[in-house]
Parts: sequence; structure tokens; C-alpha cells
Amino acid sequence: MRPSKPVMPPMDNHTLLAQDRQYVWHPYSNISPDNPLFAVESAEACTLHLANGQRVIDGMSSWWSTIHGYNHPTLNAAVSEQLSKMAHVMFGGLTHEPAVRLAKQLVEMTPKGLDRVFFADSGSIAVEVACKMALQYWIGKKQPEKSRFLAFEGGYHGDTFGTMSVCDPHNGMHGLFAGRLANNDFLPRPLPVFDTNITTSRSTCTLEDQHTHLGALKKHIQSNAKHLAAVIIEPTVQNAGGMYFYSPEYLKQLKILCEEYDVLLIADEIATGFGRTGKLFGCDHAGLSPDIMCLGKALTGGYMTLAATLCSDDIAQTISQSEASVLMHGPTFMGNPLACATANASLSILKEGHWLKQVSGIEQQLKEQLTALKDHEAVADTRVLGAIGVIELKQAVEMKTLQPFIVEQGIWLRPFGKLLYTMPPYIIQQEELQKITRGMAACLDFHMAS
Ligand code: PMP
Repeated sequence: MRPSKPVMPPMDNHTLLAQDRQYVWHPYSNISPDNPLFAVESAEACTLHLANGQRVIDGMSSWWSTIHGYNHPTLNAAVSEQLSKMAHVMFGGLTHEPAVRLAKQLVEMTPKGLDRVFFADSGSIAVEVACKMALQYWIGKKQPEKSRFLAFEGGYHGDTFGTMSVCDPHNGMHGLFAGRLANNDFLPRPLPVFDTNITTSRSTCTLEDQHTHLGALKKHIQSNAKHLAAVIIEPTVQNAGGMYFYSPEYLKQLKILCEEYDVLLIADEIATGFGRTGKLFGCDHAGLSPDIMCLGKALTGGYMTLAATLCSDDIAQTISQSEASVLMHGPTFMGNPLACATANASLSILKEGHWLKQVSGIEQQLKEQLTALKDHEAVADTRVLGAIGVIELKQAVEMKTLQPFIVEQGIWLRPFGKLLYTMPPYIIQQEELQKITRGMAACLDFHMAS
């Protein structure tokens, strides 16, 4: 055993924040010293312990990933046990038990027809890999002209260049990088949900509207099939592009059209996977088996970064037998053993099955408590699906003032644009969730007053 290095003395909150402001760049932000910022010292179950002594209930699951809560004994044990063997080893030419176990588990638990797993190191990379798989598949089929993707307005699939090219075409990323992104096809987002089991306070669309919308989808796929490699969609919920729910019927029809016109279907389940929408996968609402599926976020129970792209045997065989003969991707930290071992532990917790009751309890409570806010003057819509509760405001929030106010309420939320929402850990207790929904109500008043 090598001697361990002396532990560094802890930084006080003031120094930590000052050095952060001096050296660090945070996500989707500028380096202004005025951005509200809070240091976290530790976290336990659903509570973040801030370095300033405050305790806040986490309504975000650390960007939708920490489904079992923080500092979970099973996940901690999995990390420690794996760490005592090896933290990492390259995946080219080598393999290890955590990765093999995880691939097997993922194939077994995802919809039928997903037979092969490629591990990636983040959600965006899993989507990049999915797109490469689709392109290489058609090259292998000697139809290289099938090279475009059909995506949806309001969709979000990541921040890398390939993924940005299939994100919503009107938001900042496309505008900012215009001319530098691949050209793809876009259709309007699927219409809002008309299923009665998904609650939204806004009037829902009629079957006739849905029919017209599906007609446009069919027309597009029919006339562009020659050039389309794949359709990419977030099943049932568009997440970062608007926390927007739509009809599973649309997905069912999309799958039928993809099969009819020989276009692959990529399901981006990075946000919806592992129970968040009340079913294990968003695709399950439609009984759908995509050709390619991307997983990430909750895969490791939110412990560390890991993602996976699953595909059918046909895709894997076609690429392997193509002229290139290999899938052109291989991240350094592919199949990281620590991450795979943690993911296996997270899946074993999911397999115990408590998540179903937990998520439906959260859904019930959110429906009651958020729907009660639908007539607030600041509110355009409230909607709930599984462990996702959304208040859509009429005006965008002012984060500089709202974020500290949220923390004052003893909760942690990270609204964006017009969306004040929660995606709590599945283990959240009723009183904790009530604190979050009360805090959301207080945010509405604060938003109106400022
Ligand atoms: N796809 C979807 C649906 C997502 O929600 C996200 C992340 N919010 C991504 C892809 C990208 O994942 P990552 O941030 O891990 O790159």
C-alpha cells in the first residue's frame, strides 16, 4: 500500500467562493462576479448541506440524476469496493466485470431489440455515438445518401456540435453557431398530450389536431426517407427544451412510419430513463422498441458520469461487416469501472421495485399541490408526469434575484426561462416535497412582486 497524501485543510466558505469566482467557469454562464453561487459541503438523502450552514431540500436531483438520493449506503459501498480493485482501466482490448454485468443488465431491462451496448462518458457523447451508428449503418447498407436526421422543435440532445445540430433549431445554440452546424430536418414538436393520465392544466389538443400533426409527420418522412438516416426524439417528455409532455400515440405512429419508410429511430432517454416519467423508460408509455437508445444521467444514480448507447443486433452486425468494419468512437474513459460498478448498484436498487410506488406518490402529490397554483396570475400552465412537476410562467424568471430567494425557502431549484420545475429524488419524503411545492408557490409571488 502506498501512503496516502495528507488531507488538505478545508477551505472556509468565503475563500471557496472567492477562489471560484477567480478561477472557475460554471455551466451556461458568464464569468460575472454577480451570479448567485452557493458552495455545497456535503449531501445526505435529499438534503444539500451548504458551506454557509444552510440546509436545502434538493428538488433537482442534481440535474435529474440523483434518483436514490445522496450518500446512499449501497452506492457508496459499490464505489468503495470497486475502488479497492481498480478505479480505471482502458477498454480497448481489455474488459472487466462491472462493464460486462452492466451491459447485460441494460440489454435485459430495456425494450426488446436493443442487444448491444456502447459505453460513453456523458449524455452528449451517447447521442453523438447514436448518430454515428445511424450514419455508419446506412454506409454499411450501401445507402450513404441517407445522412440527415429528423429532429423536433423543442428537442434537446446535448451541447456538442453533432448534438447541437439536432437540438431545437430556434434557440440560442443554433443562432449562435449558425452556418457551423450540420443541416438537419425539423418538424414542430408533437402536440401537447391528450392522454387523461398525464395532467396539464392547459387545454389539451383534440384527436383531430393530433391527426393533422401525424399527417405532417408522415408526409415529411415519406418525402424525405431517401435522405433520412434516423429520427431522433426524447420519448414522451421534451426536457431541457421546455419540460413538455406529449402523446405516446405520436411515438407509436412515429415508430410505424420509421419502419414503413426504412428510417432508424433513436430514442434519447437520457433524461426520461430509469423511472422518471412513471414508467421505466419514456418509450414504455408507447410500448415502443427503438433501433437505438441513449441512456445517461440517472444511470449511475447520479454518482458519476456514464452514458450508454444501445442498438439492435442488425445495426451492430451491419457496421461490423461494413467496409469501415468498426464503429468510429472510443473515449479514453469508456466503460470506467467505478462508474459501471456504481451503475450496477443503482440498477439493483431500481430492481427492488420501490421506485414505482415512490414515483407515483410524488406524481400524486405534485398533481394536487401544483394544480392548485394554476390560477395564479404568474402561471401559464402547470403539468405533472411521474416525478416531474412543472409550472410554466407567463414571463421568464430573473435568476439573479430568484435563486437566492429559492435558497432562503430552504429548497434547491434551478428554474430556466419561463420554467419553474422540480424533478426530486425518488426517495423524497412527503413533507420535503411539500416544502418544495410551498417554495414554488412563494416563488410565484416573489416573481410577480419583482
Ligand atoms: N439528451 C437529453 C435528453 C438531455 O436531457 C441531456 C442533458 N440535459 C443530454 C442529452 C446531454 O447529456 P450530458 O449533459 O450528460 O451531456
